[in-house]
Amino acid sequence: MINGFIDVQIASSPNIIKKCYLYLISNTVIIPQQKHLTVMKHFIVLSLTSLLFLNSYGQKPEDTEDWSRKPEVVTPGKGDLPPSDAIVLYSGPEDLEKWIGEDGEEPGWVADQALTVNPESPGIKTKQSFGDVQLHVEWRSPKVVEGEGQGRGNSGIFLMGKYELQVLDSYNNETYYNGQAGSIYKQYIPLVNASLPPGTWQKYDIIFTAPHFNGDGSLDSPAYITVIHNGVLIQNHVELKGATEYIGKPEYKSHAEKLPLMLQQHRNPVSYRNIWIREL
Ligand code: MG
Repeated sequence: MINGFIDVQIASSPNIIKKCYLYLISNTVIIPQQKHLTVMKHFIVLSLTSLLFLNSYGQKPEDTEDWSRKPEVVTPGKGDLPPSDAIVLYSGPEDLEKWIGEDGEEPGWVADQALTVNPESPGIKTKQSFGDVQLHVEWRSPKVVEGEGQGRGNSGIFLMGKYELQVLDSYNNETYYNGQAGSIYKQYIPLVNASLPPGTWQKYDIIFTAPHFNGDGSLDSPAYITVIHNGVLIQNHVELKGATEYIGKPEYKSHAEKLPLMLQQHRNPVSYRNIWIREL
């Protein structure tokens, strides 16, 4: 109890009273006479004791205990495996049925232990729609390096099919910084470059807050995203400026509360695995 400590100190030490008094009237330095100190001591002790009393009067520890919502029990996954309440979007070829091509046709990507971009086939999106989520994605750019800049291991994770977290081989591969791996494409440069060498599995852990729109289509609240790349924070709750644009400035256009997650086909055979998501 700091106040209590102060009380004791003040009550037992005239020097402290003197210092307090001088502090209180420090703008007009007056040296108090000794006869005034006793009065001041009683005044300050009374004031601090009153504050202490008012501060805690009628309150109990239980008053600030919150019993309104019992958190559900969730069993964490071992390593990066999904926790018990996650929706698994890809853990093997049987999960391909959870996806559909961007063109509405059957997905044309290679589906085995990993899900690999087919440069001849469109991007893919989930059949299920999502809003606020926690998302885990593991990805791997091709081991054999071809191309450079944006042409090297390019794909992308489009939250709600509109907001791209860039996937790119950014290991010793320079490009515009708001277009490298971990960027919110053309909006935010990653805080650091946590890329691993090509051919290595990498992971993104993403927290995404969906935007909301008013009835007239105007923006009510923007989207936010936090991204951890290979265990390193690279985007810290940044406010998205709108849907991803290749040319021109991003802007928001009203859309549904939930939309499918999309993986981009950018001609490079990038692979994905262990994709799971939790609705928030
Ligand atoms: Mg991309």
